[in-house]
Amino acid sequence: MENFALVIHGGAGTILKEDMTPELEQAYIEGLEEALNAGYAVLEAGGSAVNATKAAIVVLEDNILFNAGKGSVFTKKGVQEMDAAIMDGSNLEAGAVSGVRNVRNPIELATEVLRNSNHVFLSGKGATDFAIKQGIKLEPDEYFFSQFRYDQWKAIRDSDTYSLDHTHQRLEELMKDKKFGTVGAVACDAQGNIAAATSTGGMTNKKYGRIGDSPLIGAGTYANNNTCGISCTGHGEMFIRSVASYDVSCLMEYKGYSLQEAMHTVVHNKLLHLGGEGGMIGVDANADVAMVFNSAGMYRAYKKSDGTSEIAIYR
Ligand code: ASP
Repeated sequence: MENFALVIHGGAGTILKEDMTPELEQAYIEGLEEALNAGYAVLEAGGSAVNATKAAIVVLEDNILFNAGKGSVFTKKGVQEMDAAIMDGSNLEAGAVSGVRNVRNPIELATEVLRNSNHVFLSGKGATDFAIKQGIKLEPDEYFFSQFRYDQWKAIRDSDTYSLDHTHQRLEELMKDKKFGTVGAVACDAQGNIAAATSTGGMTNKKYGRIGDSPLIGAGTYANNNTCGISCTGHGEMFIRSVASYDVSCLMEYKGYSLQEAMHTVVHNKLLHLGGEGGMIGVDANADVAMVFNSAGMYRAYKKSDGTSEIAIYR
């Protein structure tokens, strides 16, 4: 039996201690801990990395504090459209969904796409049809509602009706205040198999069916037993343009970088260069983990079979 490890994130952004109450901080820590334990229990029982990452993500999707599943952000039209992806590094199989509504756990649907469709990526109505066919749990709109996300959206939903400059200012203000609450999990199981999974409501006030990096294999999510598993969080457009998670894998494969070196290069050099705020979590085939971000904070946690673990929020 080899070493195993699980690392999770609950989003990155301008997460500052001075903006946090002790109660809220505690609630975030407990949410991370619960997800970490759920995923780790799968690994401890000899389960697969795919099942461990899925188990951790389900807990985070069910937690209203995070921007995934219940508590997802609102689109320009005032609805919640969610994206998710999961990848199995042992065979490079992957499943992804985008723009899905009313699916309680988008990561369950993505896993169903991985296992039981002949495709990799389903979107919108078709993805929901597949969910119904596979018996994936649906919920009414109210289930996903969170007052906090609604207020966040209300503050900027009219920004388009103002002048462009104003729009930019408002969006910039939003970005400054931005907390990307996307959730992610990556694991290396006792068989040495790696998996990565990410789930999100995307960005507040997104429009025109916008899809972020999270469900895009190679951008927000990637896993390959030969290199690493990666799940990202941050301003998705820049993560897509830098093919962020695959780039980490490439730096390891072609340049011989360590996981930490590769993630550091992508997050602090390449992404920052494009103005891409955020971070990522990763694991390699030795079950070494890394959590790297260029924002003020990132909700994050890991647990390894060597007995080490950590739960952290700020830089
Ligand atoms: N990366 C996500 C997106 O752009 C947002 C996030 O990380 O919270 O959709």
